[in-house]
Amino acid sequence: MSSLETLTVHGLGRVAEPYRDIVPPIHLASTFERAADGSYPGGRVYARDASPAYIEAEEVLRQLDGGTQALLFASGHAAASAVLQALEPGDRVLAPQSMYWALRKWLLDLAEHGRIQLAFYDNADIADVERQLAAAPTRLLWVETPANPTWELTDIRAAAALARQHGAMTLVDSTVATPVLCQPLALGADIVLHSATKYLNGHSDVVAGALVTREDSPLWQRIRVMRNLGGAILGPFEAWLLLRGMRTLHLRVRAACANALQLATELEQHPAIAQVLYPGLPSHPQHATAVAQMNGGFGGMLSIRLRDGEGRARDVAARVRVFKRATSLGSVESLIEHRASVEGPGNRCPTDLLRLSVGIEPVADLLADLTQALGG
Ligand code: PLP
Repeated sequence: MSSLETLTVHGLGRVAEPYRDIVPPIHLASTFERAADGSYPGGRVYARDASPAYIEAEEVLRQLDGGTQALLFASGHAAASAVLQALEPGDRVLAPQSMYWALRKWLLDLAEHGRIQLAFYDNADIADVERQLAAAPTRLLWVETPANPTWELTDIRAAAALARQHGAMTLVDSTVATPVLCQPLALGADIVLHSATKYLNGHSDVVAGALVTREDSPLWQRIRVMRNLGGAILGPFEAWLLLRGMRTLHLRVRAACANALQLATELEQHPAIAQVLYPGLPSHPQHATAVAQMNGGFGGMLSIRLRDGEGRARDVAARVRVFKRATSLGSVESLIEHRASVEGPGNRCPTDLLRLSVGIEPVADLLADLTQALGG
């Protein structure tokens, strides 16, 4: 294979006997035959432990993220839960102030119930990461970059180096950047997390999660055990759909990045908009970090803040005709949402903010839709 993109387009490119299928079959078996001598000639015992349904998708992901091992999960949350369950009781987790709200809620819940210690850092402030790491022994530094829903960036190389100095491991939730745009493991992170529900699958029809590790470690071995014993495994058909979706990953991500950059640039001039939050804009406070650690684009996610506040934001969301009003992100179709009302009480999201997941439609259609919805 000549490049990772070709490998991904080919879904590894294996052909199966006896028909020489160029698309892998779906392995549905939950259990595998034992030989008369008690051995397992197929190398597998039971599908919760290690299903052949995951082989291709895990291998594509492992290679895309440049890791040594990859694991699929039933959702992004299941992947995150396996990591958190793999920690020792009372381990300290250092998490970003801005991050995917439901995972933040999950961390707060675990801390409230005494399962972990939790502290937060300012996503964009490496000095704050260092201060918080120095404040108490930390097991895990959690990074999400760009981070929901304001798309702040964290300097992965600097954060992971500090974590290592302080004896902590670094996990990067790279759902929004995807392996196409960012390589956290090469920048020093230990584990990458993806909600594969988003760009990796890309068609709003699978919920899945994945972890990729830079190297084998006691924590990784425990995560593996947690997937098996915790039982949050992906179904074979979902794994197959994910592999199918990933075949167009690069094309989709490139198209979404180009659309998002153009929309962000145009919307920044719109009189109804107070601020466009997009890492690709020179006005973004961490644009330099984005340039340094994202290659080939700045992602398909952007947020806009309306000058006239929440009422206007809700009104714009109500008026779109091409964008779909729905949560989630990373699919071929464009989505819009009034994020604060999705996140609910206690969230940190500004109420005047609309989150846009920019799809791969012709950008003129998207711009015309937003322009009419903005009333300009
Ligand atoms: N991480 C990020 C950045 C997300 O946006 C999401 C979901 O929206 C998740 C993790 C959780 O993934 P899932 O919905 O697949 O459980």
